[in-house]
Amino acid sequence: MAYKKVYLKPGKEESLKRFHPWVFSGAIHHIEGEPEEGEIVDVYTSKKEFIACGHFQIGSIAVRVLTFRQKEIDHDFWKHRLEVAYDLRRSLGLAGNPINNTYRLVHGEGDNLPGLIIDVYDHTAVMQAHSAGMHVYRMEIAEALSEVMGDVVQNIYYKSETTLPFKADLEPENGFIKGGSPENIAMEYGLKFHVDWLKGQKTGFFVDQRENRHLLERYSKGRNVLNMFCYTGGFSFYAMRGGANLVHSVDSSAKAIDLTNMNVELNFPGDSRHQAYAEDAFKYLDRMGDQYDLIILDPPAFAKHKDALRNALRGYTKLNAKAFEKIKPGGILFTFSCSQVVDKMNFRNAVFTAAAQSGRSVRILHQLTQPGDHPVNIYHPEGEYLKGLVLYVE
Ligand code: SAH
Repeated sequence: MAYKKVYLKPGKEESLKRFHPWVFSGAIHHIEGEPEEGEIVDVYTSKKEFIACGHFQIGSIAVRVLTFRQKEIDHDFWKHRLEVAYDLRRSLGLAGNPINNTYRLVHGEGDNLPGLIIDVYDHTAVMQAHSAGMHVYRMEIAEALSEVMGDVVQNIYYKSETTLPFKADLEPENGFIKGGSPENIAMEYGLKFHVDWLKGQKTGFFVDQRENRHLLERYSKGRNVLNMFCYTGGFSFYAMRGGANLVHSVDSSAKAIDLTNMNVELNFPGDSRHQAYAEDAFKYLDRMGDQYDLIILDPPAFAKHKDALRNALRGYTKLNAKAFEKIKPGGILFTFSCSQVVDKMNFRNAVFTAAAQSGRSVRILHQLTQPGDHPVNIYHPEGEYLKGLVLYVE
C-alpha cells in the first residue's frame, strides 16, 4: 500500500536519523496529496530518500513516527508492537504476577507507539489516544490487543475525550470497545483499590507511582504520615500496610477523598488509623501542626508548557518549604514532580531552595523516577517526566 508522502526541507532529517520519533511542521517542505488527520504517511528527505513512516496530524508535531522501516502498518504491525510491550511487562514481573494485575502496557513513545497509552487493571484495559492517528486506528489496535492478551483482557474501555488534540476534527466518545464489565477492583502488590475508569483522572489510577509507593511502605513503621495530594489514596494504603501509626490523606477533590476512604476500607476495614480531608493543600499545610514525620507531596503538574516553568518552580519551592517548616526532626519527605517540562536538576534546585529557607539539615536518600512499565525511549528524552526525592530531615 502506498502512503501519501511528506517531504522534508534540506537537513531536517537529522533528528530522524537519530530515531527521534517526531516531525515538526516547520521541518516540512511539502506534502504530496492531502492526508487527513490521523492518516499514515511516509516521510522522505529532501533527496527523496525514505526515512520514516507515521501518523499525520495538523499541529506543531506533524508526524509521529511508527517505524523507520518502509513497511505497511497492518494488523501484524500492531500485534507485534503489543507483543513486545506485553513481554516487557512480564519481564518486569508485573504481568502474570498473582499479587499484581495493574500495570501500564503501552507508554507511548516509550513503547514505540507515539500517542497511545494502555493501562491494564485486572481484566480491563483502558486505552487512551493522545494523537489523531491512534484515535483513527483504535479498532485495529483493540483487535490486536485482544489477540495478544487473550483471556487476560476481557474489557477494553476507550477513554480519549479529554486527551485528543482539540483542534483535530474528531469527535471521540468514551466507551467500551470490548466487553463492558462494571467490575472495577484491581490489585497492586497485594493491595486492592477501586478504579474509576469512567470518570477518574488519567485512566483511573496513577499507575506510575507503584514502585515509589512500595518504597514508602518500608519507611512507614510507627510514623505519623501525611499523604498530600492523595487522589485515590495510593500512598496511604501502602503506609498502613507498612505499620504507620496514623495516616492522614488530603486532596482538594471531594470525589477523590470518597475513593480514598473506600480504598482504605477495602484493605483495612474499620481501621481507625486513617482520616481523610477534602481541603486545599496550602491551606492544610498552613493550619496543620507538627505531628507528621513522614510526608508525601505528589502534586499535579504545575507546568504544562515551557512558558510556565518559572512559576512552576516557585510553586514547588513554596510547597516544599511548608513541609520542611513543619516536619518532625528525623522526618522523611517523599516529594515529587510530574511536570514533563521541569527536569531533574530544576526540580532538585527548587527543593534545595526550600530546604535552605528552613535552614535544616537535609539529606537525599533516594532519587526516584517513573517505573519500568513507563519506559523512556532513549531517542526520545521528552518521555521522562516523573521525578522524586526521598529526603531525611533532621
Ligand atoms: N498521589 C496520587 C496522585 C496525585 S495526582 C496517587 O498516588 O495516586 C494529584 C492530585 O492533586 C489530584 O487528585 C488532585 O485532585 C489534587 N489536587 C490538585 N490541586 C490541589 C490542591 N490545591 N490541593 C489539594 N489537592 C490538589
